[in-house]
Amino acid sequence: MSLLVTNIGELVTNDPARGGPLGVVGDAALVAEHGHVAWVGPARHAPQADARIDVHGAAVIPGFVDSHTHLVFAADRAAEFVARMSGTPYTGGGIATTVAATRDADDGTLRANLARLVAEANGQGSTTIEVKSGYGLSTVDEERLLRLAREVTDETTFLGAHVVPREYVGRLEEYVALVTGPMLTAAAPLARWVDVFCERGAFDEDASRTVLRAGMAAGLQPRIHANQLGPGPGVRLAVELGAASADHCTHLSTEDVDALASSATVATLLPGAEFATRSPYPDARRLLDAGATVALATDANPGSSFTTSMPFCIAVAVREMRMTPAEAVWAATAGGAAALRRDDVGRLSPGARADLAVLDAPSHVHLAYRPGVPLVRTVVIAGEAT
Ligand SMILES: [Zn+2]
Repeated sequence: MSLLVTNIGELVTNDPARGGPLGVVGDAALVAEHGHVAWVGPARHAPQADARIDVHGAAVIPGFVDSHTHLVFAADRAAEFVARMSGTPYTGGGIATTVAATRDADDGTLRANLARLVAEANGQGSTTIEVKSGYGLSTVDEERLLRLAREVTDETTFLGAHVVPREYVGRLEEYVALVTGPMLTAAAPLARWVDVFCERGAFDEDASRTVLRAGMAAGLQPRIHANQLGPGPGVRLAVELGAASADHCTHLSTEDVDALASSATVATLLPGAEFATRSPYPDARRLLDAGATVALATDANPGSSFTTSMPFCIAVAVREMRMTPAEAVWAATAGGAAALRRDDVGRLSPGARADLAVLDAPSHVHLAYRPGVPLVRTVVIAGEAT
């Protein structure tokens, strides 16, 4: 089965061989075969295919790669959001509320909530979604959350070291022993990645290193929540361990920026978190100018960033973080792929997965230029319109 998408006014390929930051092709067409991109070029030269979508001059971009979400949970925290918007500062303490609700929820409830959120993300153009555990924080519940996450994505992340759960408060070492022992043994077959919330009030540098090293020894690859609420060792640790990504990167020293710029660790920025906690945004311009690779992701979670919308993140990144529209679209597609060490997504060139979004707009610029407007018209995942 092959699919021709034609009359594309502006095709964003992210193919460096096509020039410019986004490898844009005008008056383009694309052919997908067996779920992958088989051909890209001028519409007038397009080969025949079994099925055809005429997009009438619209822009087509690679599907978004949302490399950071926490989508397996129960209940919301709207009241906490109201309190924060009324002046209560964010400290991460509300995570315990979601842990309690998630432990109490049965599989069916969690599965239905997850499916709803994944459909919501797909509808806004996300075609690859990473999902973390981290609201179970017991061996049985972390295993359960990863099993559910695995039903919707291969990009699953073990985040047993999200916070120290209530029953272990004051016993950090004992909890780290659980996370790196029985919990990791249960989680490792279900996860690709290991993550830790390296932050004052969560896990310090030593505990974070212990968790990530144990995960790596169990065959998982490291990524890290770093430098969100204040300066800290997270970014340094990410680079030291060769992590695929350091996520948040809100409070960076010059040394942190230099370390990211001279390493393969991607700086993943999560502007939904700063938006929903009314905090200063990370400085994407500083990272880009230094030569770091920048990704954008939603951090979708019920506490500090309850959005599944990559277009929203792009708009905020352009307005508040000094990114150009092209840089933000690249960061939300190819950047996310780099943060997941994937070369088969985040681009639309032959061999890539045929994951794309057709916009109700003539150009990718409209994603930032028309904030809050639902611009994703059609989403194609692995060559199939959804
Ligand atoms: Zn997160």
